[in-house]
Amino acid sequence: RGIRKSYHKNQIELPVLRGVDVAFHRGDLSALVGRSGSGKSTLMHLLATLDQPDEGEVWFDGSRIDHLPRRARDAYRNHDIGIIFQFYHLLPELTAVENVLAPAMIGRSVLGYFRERKSLMARAEAMLDRVGLLDRKSHKPSEMSGGEMQRVAIARSLMSEPKLLLADEPTGNLDTETGESILQLLRQLNEDDGLTIVMITHDDAIARRADRCYRMQDGLLVDRLNSESPTAPANRLVA
Ligand code: ATP
Ligand code: MG
Repeated sequence: RGIRKSYHKNQIELPVLRGVDVAFHRGDLSALVGRSGSGKSTLMHLLATLDQPDEGEVWFDGSRIDHLPRRARDAYRNHDIGIIFQFYHLLPELTAVENVLAPAMIGRSVLGYFRERKSLMARAEAMLDRVGLLDRKSHKPSEMSGGEMQRVAIARSLMSEPKLLLADEPTGNLDTETGESILQLLRQLNEDDGLTIVMITHDDAIARRADRCYRMQDGLLVDRLNSESPTAPANRLVA
């Protein structure tokens, strides 16, 4: 609500978000489109609490999240949201299943990890199965296709049972057909598991298939495409 954000470089102020109001609704697969440099990733970083707005408020599920203390912010990032990116950000030395498991190990004591190793591994394998990749669990990223790497990244993001999945151009590095299969997977997660998804995309065909589509232009949200769903304001997840 009323989001403003500037970057400062060499003493020059670069206004990027210039008063953005937007509500992504619980249960929707929303698309965020707009030209390169229009501020889409910047807005997503604010939703992910990876950065803070200069002005305005960010809300998630009834709580304000724009200036959370560190512990609350870590809890939000580790439990409430998942994030995937265009270039997957997998660790090259780890296998598929180890990549899925890796974030669950951060912040755990060695003892805690060994105690729960079996159940964590079982969960990681179940997530790989969910994205149709159990048979690639021992493959390293260099031994997988782009679409497969994105599936691993999606499996990794699901480990903590997030309520919201943020996706920054998840199909941006994939051919049309593979991109389509990733969209279908996201749609399945949205419909079957009730996962709310906000997805940045440059692909109009993909954006049209979202429940709602928001367009950024010069740091403002200029219009909202696709059909209005009858979601009441009380169901707002992020405002
Ligand atoms: P794309 O579609 O190319 O990914 P975008 O809409 O995601 O573009 P942003 O990444 O949000 O755009 O960037 C918006 C503007 O802010 C750009 O002009 C960029 O140069 C600038 N910018 C982004 N991050 C920083 C930063 N950390 N420091 C300074 N300027 C930045
Ligand atoms: Mg971007």
